[in-house]
Amino acid sequence: MIIFSRVGWHILIVKFIINLIFLYSIYHLYKISASFSQYLEVVFIWIASNIIIGIIYKINVKFYIKRLLMKLGTGFWEYKVKIIKDPSINAFAYKRLGFFSDKEKKYIGVTTGLLKKCSKDEINFAIAHELSHHRNNDIVVSFFTKVFGKLFKSGLGLIKTFKSGSVLGFLASLAIEVGIKFLLKKQELRADKDAFHYLKEAGLNPSGGLKFFERLKNNPDNLENTIFGKLLLTITDEHPFLETRIKKQRELLETHINSNK
Ligand SMILES: [Zn+2]
Repeated sequence: MIIFSRVGWHILIVKFIINLIFLYSIYHLYKISASFSQYLEVVFIWIASNIIIGIIYKINVKFYIKRLLMKLGTGFWEYKVKIIKDPSINAFAYKRLGFFSDKEKKYIGVTTGLLKKCSKDEINFAIAHELSHHRNNDIVVSFFTKVFGKLFKSGLGLIKTFKSGSVLGFLASLAIEVGIKFLLKKQELRADKDAFHYLKEAGLNPSGGLKFFERLKNNPDNLENTIFGKLLLTITDEHPFLETRIKKQRELLETHINSNK
């Protein structure tokens, strides 16, 4: 069953049972024609228990991710884990530089969409991917790539030949944009590859990446399904095409399986 492959599945089941009990209680109150205050009491306990269950679930997820990060070779306090309420499937790596305090803080974030829709193997992959971004300082590199790209573009805009409105100017800025995205896409592919190896070396199932990208590719909103969408993504998206990522993960998996034979 799909629920057992989720992070914190036992808590989700407890939550489901609690909600069933409360639904039954409300039905029971209705049958005995209970007073308003009795209803109020039950609803109050219902809301309170859902809040408590929610907190327990969050702690459980954070511990799960921390344990996973430790299996991948990090210290317990090295990364802060953030859960972001967002239905989309996503994970993030970001850091706060220590300008005001003496220590920089490194974060790994996951969306509730990722937790709800993806299996543990896929979540493990997403976390390992973000870990690779941290270890390779991609966050800083991509920041400067974007800043220098923008500076270069505005610098170019000052030169008469490239003034905005000219075809040449448009093509030049397009080329810079595609160039920046090309560099960022390379980072993504490297992080995918790293994630695969991190998981493999930690003795975890490394096939989560393949499943993860296949899931994203099968999403009906996936722009890659049309030629125009593909063109748009080439210019605007920092991520490689999912079909490329799937192909790379499949290759890694095949070599892994063959080496184990
Ligand atoms: Zn990434």
